[in-house]
Amino acid sequence: LPGTFILSLDTEIAWGTYGAADVAARAASFDVYRDLICRLLDLLDRYQIPATWAVVGHLLLDACDGHPDLPQPHYVWADAPDADRDPCTDAMRDPWYYGPDVIAAIRAAQVEHEIGTHTFTHVLAGDAAVTPAIWEAQLAACAALHREHGLPMHALVYPQNRVAYVDRLAAHGITVYRGQEARPYRRSTHPAARLLSLLDYALSRTPPTYAPSTLAASGPPLNLPASQFLLSYDGVRRFIPTGARIRQARRGLDQAIRRGEIYHLWFHPFNLGSGAGMFDALAGILKLAAARRDAGDLQVLTMGAAADWIRAQGESNGAG
Ligand SMILES: [Zn+2]
Ligand SMILES: [Zn+2]
Repeated sequence: LPGTFILSLDTEIAWGTYGAADVAARAASFDVYRDLICRLLDLLDRYQIPATWAVVGHLLLDACDGHPDLPQPHYVWADAPDADRDPCTDAMRDPWYYGPDVIAAIRAAQVEHEIGTHTFTHVLAGDAAVTPAIWEAQLAACAALHREHGLPMHALVYPQNRVAYVDRLAAHGITVYRGQEARPYRRSTHPAARLLSLLDYALSRTPPTYAPSTLAASGPPLNLPASQFLLSYDGVRRFIPTGARIRQARRGLDQAIRRGEIYHLWFHPFNLGSGAGMFDALAGILKLAAARRDAGDLQVLTMGAAADWIRAQGESNGAG
């Protein structure tokens, strides 16, 4: 078996950022979001790397007047109902919340990317405020929009990687989701967990990679867990050198190739605005992946294609 490389991108512009202070902190990246997307698409074309873009469904809209028929959460930690984050205007006035041009650019790229979903308004499954009815309505809204735009919807990335309602995905056509990285402390809120996580990056520790045979046993839908978040340059993270990010990815790719496993990298396109090193880190990683692919050691797949491939492997193994 060859190694497998998967790149998934949480495509949300401002939908995944909560609270005025955090939105303000990322405003500069949101303002240049279209430029970041353009450069990112060029880079993916240059190295012929298809990615899975998990898009917030609302970005497919040109305009809206709110969604009175859609049940939406009111998180206990938020001042206002989540529906209040919707500007109820259009892409001209609020390009951080509508992005049909962004989706069109992804579809116009030379490489054929996959458009998956990141829910309709970035609702947090697993939060008590997100009831089964809310979750159903979110996925139904996305499925309808994807149908309308002629976009299959096979891949889901959970907002904040909070996995829940897995049994409710297949009904909406979802065959694969990105699960949590197999590092227990990443889920912990203990202060030491953050330090351990940062140390992993600083030391470029080999990220987890996954055996297709083990993944085939999950689901349906199939769980395709993350291996590495391409660390942004926010706050103390900017002291981690670009080389450490690339080295960590190389170790993940090497291990995936050696063992015939899957290495799954992810980030948000707005992270590319956090520092000049971010594009350098990504370019370094894509160059490595492309070289290994061209040497015949590595396949580069979208989440949907990887799920199909893993299932086929599982079946041929089962058939003996
Ligand atoms: Zn809306
Ligand atoms: Zn998100």
